[in-house]
Amino acid sequence: MSPDTPVKFLKGVGEGRAKALESAGIATARDLLWFFPYRYEDRRHPTRIADLGRHVESPVLIRGRILSAHARVSPVKRMKIFEAVIEDGTASVKLVWFNQPYLSDQIARGDRLSVYGTPRLTSYNLQIDSPDWEKFEGSEDDEGSIVSIYSKIGTIAPKTLRQIVGRALDEVLPEIEDPMPEEIRKTLGVIGLREALLAIHRPEVLDEQFLRQRSPAHLRLILQEFFSFMLALRVRRAAEEGQKKLRRIHIDEELRAEVRKILPFKLTNAQKRVVKEIADDLCGSKPMYRLLQGDVGSGKTIVALIAAVIVIGNGHQVALLAPTEILAEQHFQRISQLVDKSLVIAKATGSMSAGERRTLQAGLREGLIQLVVGTHALLEEKIRFKSLGLAIVDEQHRFGVEQRQALFEKGETPDILVMTATPIPRSLALAMYGDLELSVIDELPPGRQQVKTVLRTASQLDRVWKFIDEEIDAGAQTYVVFPIIEESEKSNLKPLTAGFEAMKQRFPNRRVEMLHGRMTAAMKEETMARFKMGEIDILVSTTVIEVGIDVPNASMMVILDADRFGLSQLHQLRGRVGRGERKSYCVIVCEEKANPEAVARLKTFEQTKDGFDVAERDLEIRGPGEFLGTRQSGVARFRFGNILRDHALLEKAQRVAIELIERDGLDRAKDLLGQLLGVTIANAARD
Ligand code: ADP
Ligand code: MG
Repeated sequence: MSPDTPVKFLKGVGEGRAKALESAGIATARDLLWFFPYRYEDRRHPTRIADLGRHVESPVLIRGRILSAHARVSPVKRMKIFEAVIEDGTASVKLVWFNQPYLSDQIARGDRLSVYGTPRLTSYNLQIDSPDWEKFEGSEDDEGSIVSIYSKIGTIAPKTLRQIVGRALDEVLPEIEDPMPEEIRKTLGVIGLREALLAIHRPEVLDEQFLRQRSPAHLRLILQEFFSFMLALRVRRAAEEGQKKLRRIHIDEELRAEVRKILPFKLTNAQKRVVKEIADDLCGSKPMYRLLQGDVGSGKTIVALIAAVIVIGNGHQVALLAPTEILAEQHFQRISQLVDKSLVIAKATGSMSAGERRTLQAGLREGLIQLVVGTHALLEEKIRFKSLGLAIVDEQHRFGVEQRQALFEKGETPDILVMTATPIPRSLALAMYGDLELSVIDELPPGRQQVKTVLRTASQLDRVWKFIDEEIDAGAQTYVVFPIIEESEKSNLKPLTAGFEAMKQRFPNRRVEMLHGRMTAAMKEETMARFKMGEIDILVSTTVIEVGIDVPNASMMVILDADRFGLSQLHQLRGRVGRGERKSYCVIVCEEKANPEAVARLKTFEQTKDGFDVAERDLEIRGPGEFLGTRQSGVARFRFGNILRDHALLEKAQRVAIELIERDGLDRAKDLLGQLLGVTIANAARD
């Protein structure tokens, strides 16, 4: 028997069980070693049966001798029932199993059993339903053990799995080689793999450290996972750095003048700094891979446009990918205004007609179109560029890795700029991208208003509406946001349409309109355009307005059922106001009876102005997946490690990976990576 022996050759695993295991991704004895218990039960301390009354509804271990055992059929549901009575010298208790008729052959009067289960009170007495059991061979006061519980696979019961895994442990664990060389284990400060696996399956103690996944065994697995990840990123990165950019970008006086010409305002110092960082990358010989981070309203768009003008001025094309049609449209409009026909710009959206698609495709292929702004439509197979020099992704966390990749592959090592208003903590950025360069705009344009944020309950809404009335009289415009978070096909627009009707009644003399993700692109565009031109007083909307919309005269926002949004999302929404001269307000509203935790969160939000603080809080509260608002956010998913909890380990793994490459070179790193992944890939595939 070897680690590679197929599971079906293991004792106790027939064809049927082998199939079930295989469909769960467990093909060999080695895979079984990586199939971990999901919890543990401490069965070392049996309870006296006479004391069971004190343990009703909580699991206990008892040990004793079977007094009687028999099968019967329940008259009620015609269920097969197996009953036994067990006695330990202090008292006896009834054990009941359902639909396990074969137990008649396994449990008989006189047997000694260890039984683990939860006593419950019936109308007559105590009984334990469907307990876990084992024949007990030792003497009455022998130590019990810590039992690992595996989740059920197909019809294979947890207990059977425990036996199967146990056999794999006994027979092949000694043959498992540690893919991590000793010196790296030393540097990382971790134990050997065999030792770690054994401890995970058969822990000797269940202490705090172990249960919080902080034991040496856990640390070994987490660090192996992080180290492999960092090594892979570094190897890939080193390969990319070896790649030379074919294009040469120069910035001469003429180009500088062109850039100055499109600037409608003076750049802030932060913008200037970031533009320089980007320009240096563009002119360098390695492809740029840079994350541009800046709070909502900090002015990322103009920076991106400057980068675009530089690349276009050198004869290449630029693509700007935006997450929503509204945003793509807005970028398109704003950029068109700024460049005033000096560039050929096109738009790519899902609602293009067949003819428009063909024109677009031809224009991009032949290089006539210099800048294209679009949504996912940009990623279509048929979109090809003559020479894509720069790919910009706005609000990047809304796109998955594959989507970003699909765009990047449309050029030959294009320079890449991803922009986000979500300040991603360093640890998370590391896990998302490994090691990209970071530029931060940490200064808002001058004259920007602080948005006054207030929390109100639904019963106070009347006063809020009054206030809005006054503000509209003074010339302001308002957003009213309803919490339809995902506007999928199935989602229900009712709260929005009902809210819309209510608002029209409450404000009979105002121009109230509605905006949501299921309107046609043309209708959305038209509504946004009219809101921008001041033809709408109150825009009743979903979160479609969340990203990037810029209407300076809109200085009020009311967010209903605010407790249903994440903090970062609220911050994004709030960023829609405070963009002009007017004093701006964001009113977050929740029901009186909203969950106190949620209210506490909203209170924090009321006090927190800075996007970075909001993000940190939000990340703490919701964890990385939720925080980024999409499951496919491109954050590497780890099986053992937790980016938040373990960021120190992640950084340690990175350090060791970098040192290794510097010291031993790329080839050695690749070899090692192959070894490491040989072991872990099977598991990664399963998760
Ligand atoms: P975001 O970083 O959220 O994408 P935008 O690029 O949409 O921000 O910019 C927000 C608003 O600030 C826009 O109206 C833009 O024209 C304006 N803006 C950007 N930079 C400056 C600046 N340096 N001076 C004045 N206004 C600016
Ligand atoms: Mg933006």
